[in-house]
Amino acid sequence: MSKVKEIISVNNLVKKYDNFTAVNGINFKVGQGEIFGLLGPNGAGKTTTVEILEGLRSPTSGSAEINGIDVAKNTKAVKKIIGVQLQECSFFDKLNLFEIVEMFSVFYTSKPNVGEILEKVGLLEKKKSYYKTLSGGQKQRLSIAVALVNDPKVLFLDEPTTGLDPQARRNMWELIENIRDSGKTIIITTHYMEEAEKLCDRVAIIDSGEIVTINSPNNLIRELVDSGFKVEEKIQDATLEDVFINLTGKSLRES
Ligand code: ADP
Repeated sequence: MSKVKEIISVNNLVKKYDNFTAVNGINFKVGQGEIFGLLGPNGAGKTTTVEILEGLRSPTSGSAEINGIDVAKNTKAVKKIIGVQLQECSFFDKLNLFEIVEMFSVFYTSKPNVGEILEKVGLLEKKKSYYKTLSGGQKQRLSIAVALVNDPKVLFLDEPTTGLDPQARRNMWELIENIRDSGKTIIITTHYMEEAEKLCDRVAIIDSGEIVTINSPNNLIRELVDSGFKVEEKIQDATLEDVFINLTGKSLRES
């Protein structure tokens, strides 16, 4: 991270909902071209953090910058350089894929090449198909296409493979890596540790509004193993899932 240009900087960020502190003074930096994962149990504060970065919620104190722009003070400028993966919309049913991507592109001054974007996500041959005919994986890839219409510097992905079968999931991982390799920075939230381990250059593990650790998946696993951790049935020394459970406990936190 030290060698690359910093694109996101989060400084002592706090978010309170009345008396409840959802985000309690977190700090992290993300380098340009990183896939950075935010991991944590339900209620940890991931969504709040991401939505502050996206300019959708304002921080109680502290600050966050994307490409040097303060997200709370200059939300409009930030929105021009970020892409956010949206969840399903019912009106999509009435449009074909080309029309959906085209519709989102009208929000931006620089007009994208809709065909090129559909090709990037592997949906060009489906451009005349209607949304409802798509598989789960294709719908997710379309939501990434829509997030790419403004050629963003930073792409936010919220659980991009939830509900997908293993093939569709691996296909999505490949797409996400291709997007990173094209120079974009990706912030991803996921509950799948295997996914974080495979995809993320670094992860931040958040619990109760605080960052418990930040490092590459490999370094986190090595640290845990070096501390004497052993899995019951040894397949490999430890997985990222072991790191996660070791730091945040086994109890369920359904919200
Ligand atoms: P995560 O995405 O990690 O599940 P969230 O950021 O959604 O966590 O939530 C963090 C905590 O803040 C949770 O306890 C949640 O109930 C609370 N919270 C989130 N949004 C609001 C809100 N608008 N008003 C009050 N509490 C909220």
